[in-house]
Amino acid sequence: MMKQDLRIKELEQELAKREEEIEQLKNRNYALADSISGLKDEVYKYEELVHSSKSLIAIFMGEDHVIDIANESIREVWGKGHDVIGKPLLELLPELKSQGIKELLDQVYQTGIAYHADELPIELVIDGKPEIRYFDFTYQPQKNIDGEIIGVADIATDVTKQTLLNKKIKKNGKEFRELVNFMPHKITHSDPEGNTLYCNQSWLDYTGKTEEQFIEEPWTSLIHPEDKAETEKMVGKSLGDGSEIDLEVRLLDYNGEYKWHLCRATCVKDEEGNISSWISSSTEIQKLKEEEELKEGFLKLVSHELKTPVTSIKGYVQLLLSILSKESSEVNKSVSVKPYLNRIETQVERLIRLISEMLDLSRIEQNELKLKPETFNINQHVEEIIEDITFSNKEIQIKLDNHFECDVSADKDRIGQVIINFITNAYKYSPEDNRVDVKIWKCDDEFVAITVLDHGIGINQNEIHQIFKKFYRVPGDRDETYAGFGIGLFLSNNIIERHNGKINVKSEFGKGSEFTFTLPIKQTN
Ligand code: ADP
Repeated sequence: MMKQDLRIKELEQELAKREEEIEQLKNRNYALADSISGLKDEVYKYEELVHSSKSLIAIFMGEDHVIDIANESIREVWGKGHDVIGKPLLELLPELKSQGIKELLDQVYQTGIAYHADELPIELVIDGKPEIRYFDFTYQPQKNIDGEIIGVADIATDVTKQTLLNKKIKKNGKEFRELVNFMPHKITHSDPEGNTLYCNQSWLDYTGKTEEQFIEEPWTSLIHPEDKAETEKMVGKSLGDGSEIDLEVRLLDYNGEYKWHLCRATCVKDEEGNISSWISSSTEIQKLKEEEELKEGFLKLVSHELKTPVTSIKGYVQLLLSILSKESSEVNKSVSVKPYLNRIETQVERLIRLISEMLDLSRIEQNELKLKPETFNINQHVEEIIEDITFSNKEIQIKLDNHFECDVSADKDRIGQVIINFITNAYKYSPEDNRVDVKIWKCDDEFVAITVLDHGIGINQNEIHQIFKKFYRVPGDRDETYAGFGIGLFLSNNIIERHNGKINVKSEFGKGSEFTFTLPIKQTN
């Protein structure tokens, strides 16, 4: 019995041990089940990550680059469905073969060295149509647990939108530069301290400098010494407080000449309101300045010209009144009033000429100078004008040569005005020789020419092209000596041009001048 009890105890102990082992095994199974489900979770998370990623992800296995994984984003770009798995990439997308993609994948697969590219253009056939897309991508070698290369992972981003935008910005930038270069205005872009960063072609053309020279040399060296102090003061103030710059300065050109410019500059501010750069534009206003000067001179002249005849008319009228009041007295019976009346008439004529030239000028400027053409004999017309001039001015000696005779169709009064202008100028600018030669000759089959020649003071060669400008008078102390307003030739030129003719001048300083105008001959059928 004792022996039996002992055996039972042993069996009970054995049983308890087995039960404990079973319990341990159970626990181990539970732990295994837990870790399997954890692993499943990891794989699920990993797959979720790959498939939901906006990045384009695929893994190609083996040397044929068979697609093992391809997320939705990459399939969308390829324009393919789920059935891509198990297919070699280059069979699925044969268009890649000619674009060097196979070579890249082979290289990564064989060398194990990753490859990265930015904004690589790839042509894909999407919905049957070839389309260029741009990608940033990495080809990453995939290894097994023993470190052997088994495939290549493709992690890419479709950057087509940004690339196209960048291209557009670059193109717009280029076009904008071309536009700025095309402008006649001189443009610069400078840093907040006023140092030039960019200048357009107009500046280079004007200064004859290269872009590097222009940027390196201080722009203030171009300013006329007389304008420098004021410019520097204004620029200094603006650089400090960001106020706009607006001034007129003379700037040096490549010929060493200074020309007037209207210079403006404005600052560009960042979001915090700090000056980030300056933009300036300089526009040449030399011609405007010259015209302004001419106009000022003209106004001075006009006031002088108006004052002189009016004062002398007043003087003669007062003289006549005093003569007439004493007419009855015997003393003054011999005094004639005629010469005084003649002088009044001359002065009144000067006034009338000034007023009518001013009127014509304003008509021309407002495009209201109307021509009234008629057919007349030019020779006869010139003859009559000469008669009129010599009648009122006995001193002038005019010789007329008719080498050719014809009719013209023109505004008779306006052509007369040109002839009078030429002859009176010829006389006026010849203080020591009162001979004036007028010649009518055939210029060619279509044009008749009228030439007026004098032996007067002549015109300098460099002034000849100027004398047809409005208000232009050859400068010098002659303004006072030779009365005039600088409008006659401007009007004559306009009248002749509107008759399809031309004016030509030959002159030698100190010897005399020859003014010729042409008119179309009235053809008789
Ligand atoms: P103005 O009223 O001053 O004579 P014009 O327009 O007729 O105006 O002439 C312009 C300028 O051309 C004159 O001021 C003068 O300097 C010059 N000029 C014109 N004709 C002659 C000439 N025959 N000889 C010399 N200078 C002339």
